[in-house]
Amino acid sequence: MPAQKFSAKAHTRSNYTYSTFHKSLLHENNSEDYALRHIYSLENTKALLQAWGWTTEQIKDGIDYATIDVYRNFVYLHIPNKITKRGEIIKIRGISRFISKADFVEVLISRSWQKADPYKLQPGDNWDDLIARGNTGDFYEIKLYKHEVECTCHAYSGLEKAFAQDPVATKYLMLHYQAQGQIPDKHIFAAWQYLGATTLQQYEYCWLERAEAAMREQKKYSWQSDPEPERDTELIDW
Ligand SMILES: [Zn+2]
Repeated sequence: MPAQKFSAKAHTRSNYTYSTFHKSLLHENNSEDYALRHIYSLENTKALLQAWGWTTEQIKDGIDYATIDVYRNFVYLHIPNKITKRGEIIKIRGISRFISKADFVEVLISRSWQKADPYKLQPGDNWDDLIARGNTGDFYEIKLYKHEVECTCHAYSGLEKAFAQDPVATKYLMLHYQAQGQIPDKHIFAAWQYLGATTLQQYEYCWLERAEAAMREQKKYSWQSDPEPERDTELIDW
């Protein structure tokens, strides 16, 4: 039985010659095609087409015929304007253009931001922990660090590996006004929203406030649990 194909047809057409960089993103084990699956996905491509004024119907007609070729510095997207369906030639809306990787990073971040749900979070054991509840009763741990947030879910580690495979996409992630290098996992954006932050800079401010509050709390607690000042027991004993 052939291994399950994780990568979209748009990334693996046999009648098209992909760029050298694209080929470097394709792995023997498809599940390791992290950049193609997480950044240059069909879903992100559909969102881009929609942003460019394509109707849902036009996207539906064309997306199965798309070729997405990822170069080192940009992406080439092709959808033919004629397709053959049941032996008939049909005209559809086509496209043939280069796209900035910044556009893919932007759409990835905004889709992730929209999917983020702070109401699915609950406090963890420590002030710098949050717990995200999945739909199937599973739990993910969200760890709040001073300059970034990490999550234990699969999407987070997949996105992390995706950006590690693509230095130019990483550059745009660093330059993005909102993410500023933060891996854009939906649980992490949920944590930002939970804390009241929209950008990494605001998150860092919220983190500091949270850290200080936790410290004050700890001091108060240690003060309260201090034993009574000791009498001069030596005198009593003697
Ligand atoms: Zn996550």
